Amino acid sequence: MPAKAKQPWDQCQFCMPAKCCTYFAFEIDEPESRKDYEALLWQIAHRGVSFYIEKGSWYIMVDSRCKFLNENNQCGIYETRPYICREHSIDSCEYTADEYGFEEHFTSYEALLDYIKENTNFRFKRHPSLPETKQEEWSPKLPMHA
Ligand code: SF4
Ligand code: SF4
Repeated sequence: MPAKAKQPWDQCQFCMPAKCCTYFAFEIDEPESRKDYEALLWQIAHRGVSFYIEKGSWYIMVDSRCKFLNENNQCGIYETRPYICREHSIDSCEYTADEYGFEEHFTSYEALLDYIKENTNFRFKRHPSLPETKQEEWSPKLPMHA
């Protein structure tokens, strides 16, 4: 785990690109039915989408760089940045926290498929073209057109 710093910029300059500015996530209803899980599988089939479980709650995460993150890896609207950005602390941010406290983090279609198979009675056919489960390390990346 990287060492923590006293000033945000001391730490953030090493976080390239700024992880907290390259995705967003929000809580979703816990899946219960086959239809719910099928919807999650459809969503995670889209590039940049993952799911995580934290303290028993489910979240969808979408990798997408904020348009205000400038080429110097700094917030271009720092003085007027939204409240959600203001309350974000470097002490517990994505750069300093291991896996950010996730109980589960599904970063691929296959990983979610395996979770469903192991934890529910719902069965979805694994298409023969799908590789074996591969959990990709979470690291928000620059969008292709940045
Ligand atoms: S994730 Fe942490 S270190 Fe990285 S830019 Fe955000 S606040 Fe700074
Ligand atoms: S508004 Fe600024 S601090 Fe907030 S996500 Fe965008 S670049 Fe980051």
